[in-house]
Amino acid sequence: MIVTPKYRGFICTTSHPEGCAVNVNHQINYIKSKGKFNGPKKVLVIGASTGYGLASRIAAAFGSGAATIGVAFEKPATGSRTASAGWYNTAAFEKAALKEGLYAKTINGDAFSNEIKQQVIDLIKKDLEKVDLVVYSLASPRRTHPVTGETFNSVIKPIGETYTNKTVDFHTGVVSEASFEPATEEEIQNTVKVMGGEDWEMWIHALDEAGVLEKNTITIAYSYIGPEITHPIYKNGTIGKAKEDLEQTSKRLNVFLSKNGGKAYISVNKALVTQSSSAIPVVPLYMSLLFKVMKEKNVHEGCIEQMYRLFADRLYGNKPLYDSEGRIRIDELEMSDDVQSKVNELWKKVDTDNINELSDLEGFRNEFFNLFGFAFDEIDYDKDVDIDVKIPSIE
Ligand code: NAD
Repeated sequence: MIVTPKYRGFICTTSHPEGCAVNVNHQINYIKSKGKFNGPKKVLVIGASTGYGLASRIAAAFGSGAATIGVAFEKPATGSRTASAGWYNTAAFEKAALKEGLYAKTINGDAFSNEIKQQVIDLIKKDLEKVDLVVYSLASPRRTHPVTGETFNSVIKPIGETYTNKTVDFHTGVVSEASFEPATEEEIQNTVKVMGGEDWEMWIHALDEAGVLEKNTITIAYSYIGPEITHPIYKNGTIGKAKEDLEQTSKRLNVFLSKNGGKAYISVNKALVTQSSSAIPVVPLYMSLLFKVMKEKNVHEGCIEQMYRLFADRLYGNKPLYDSEGRIRIDELEMSDDVQSKVNELWKKVDTDNINELSDLEGFRNEFFNLFGFAFDEIDYDKDVDIDVKIPSIE
């Protein structure tokens, strides 16, 4: 089948199997180019198929020779519908790992459910015995609670008052002013239920009870803070409330794991184009300006560069960087004064007429299409491809 991008707003409903493999292989090659580090050996990544979770899995496997179990919620191809990008990414990752003799298996299903937790525990017991790192990198619009059966939807809204700012339609480059109504109390609570720490804590307790955590196990989840421009919609909005909850959870988990020498961390990461972040209003315009500035200063990074630094420098290396809240920081280049003051200056000026000159909208758009395996020079998109790709560990 010839696969072309079919997109609407921040959703692309097709993905290209060979393009997704190129995306994964670029990341693997980056890690290989950096050389090995002495990191984790048996890793569980929850949310392993795209974005930061996929990059974490690649960094652990190809940087530290780790056996990895990934959990993701992806769709295989059916009829003429392509699989989701995360499906193709996972297939490419497993194939590359197996080629190098690295253990790699994936459980595809709802990570919020008890069934998937049990399947993961059974697989660890059968194949790895225990894990020494648990990465929690889920980003989801909804969660069905495993005990009550209730389904919660998350929203991305400000809290307390309406927020008005510039935003861009990144396909057309039209910059407009948009207003976002504040969330209701129920929407805030529901967002915390989906993106807060409850499920992370359930995972760690379930793994501990099953006896599949090594002594000195590390667990880590990812957060974002960002600049003042985005605070009303992010840090001080519904998602920020969920991140506060995640941070509180990390403190509890740190105490819980310390009985066996383990640790729980939050890493504050850089803003990057992923399927989740492109859905946040205002953020794509901020990222387009940020990428322009960071590329000019030669400090731009993608998910894989960030995860390499997190593992090789911070978690398992000798360049720790913690803030006053005890969070690991790898967003220090994004948040540096010289980058932020330049972005602020551009933010005031940017409009539909000058956006291509002032921002890296094209870079943003490319990275968006890259997520689905499109816009890679290596791929001939006029060529027929087999969309029915198997993930080796899933039959
Ligand atoms: P993403 O959308 O690329 O990845 C989400 C992952 O979660 C995918 O592997 C998906 O399959 C999996 N997933 C979603 N629902 C699931 C479910 N019910 N069961 C099993 N798997 C499920 O997102 P991302 O941007 O990489 O976000 C990961 C984490 O990083 C989030 O906590 C996010 O807040 C954080 N973060 C992101 C950014 C950014 O700019 N993208 C910056 C800092 C922190």
